[in-house]
Amino acid sequence: MSFANLGLSEPILRAISELAYSQPTPIQAKAIPVILQGKNLLAGAQTGTGKTASFVLPILQLLQDKGPVRPKRMRALILTPTRELALQVQTNITRYAKHLPLNSLAVYGGVSDVPQKQQLIAGVDILVATPGRLLDMYTQRALHFDELSLLVLDEADRMLDMGFIDDINKIIERLPEQRQNLLFSATLSKQVRALAKTVVPDPVEIDI
Ligand code: AMP
Repeated sequence: MSFANLGLSEPILRAISELAYSQPTPIQAKAIPVILQGKNLLAGAQTGTGKTASFVLPILQLLQDKGPVRPKRMRALILTPTRELALQVQTNITRYAKHLPLNSLAVYGGVSDVPQKQQLIAGVDILVATPGRLLDMYTQRALHFDELSLLVLDEADRMLDMGFIDDINKIIERLPEQRQNLLFSATLSKQVRALAKTVVPDPVEIDI
């Protein structure tokens, strides 16, 4: 199995090869084709398995294929439980999108919201956010969800453990109904499955 066999485009393959990734990890080999087909995904995968690239690479491809409806309007939203993970995911997006005209931003609490707000207003294609700060930015009208077509919940089990369920529900209520949903979690517990029922209807399920 190679990355080229997964149906990824040349600018993405070039970025991967510059990072010296020789082949997809198991979660990447399974998740990438499912996401490229536009399906909802429920994935059980721990940190260290390459899960970040398993959703970022196909998201880049889907956004590239569709082209901007209106440029720099948020089209993909990735929710993470912590600031550290938000920054880590955004760093990876920057690496994988090196040869694509797509930008990204991470917003998270615990720091001034002024620079984040300015960058949001300037426009981003892919936003990585912790739930509380995202709602804050939404209330301040620094972002709109009207072009959003992709939602990712990363480390959903940790988000539930940290008590983000109400915030997640509030966010989801405000998103366009027509969208593709991906949920990643280290464990697929009863609580995670209950959340998945509302967030990722009729998913393909992968457990690594
Ligand atoms: P993650 O599980 O997403 O936190 O990724 C763990 C680490 O594996 C990160 O440092 C990635 O850069 C790296 N990685 C992801 N996919 C691959 C791959 N196919 N080959 C080699 N390294 C990878």
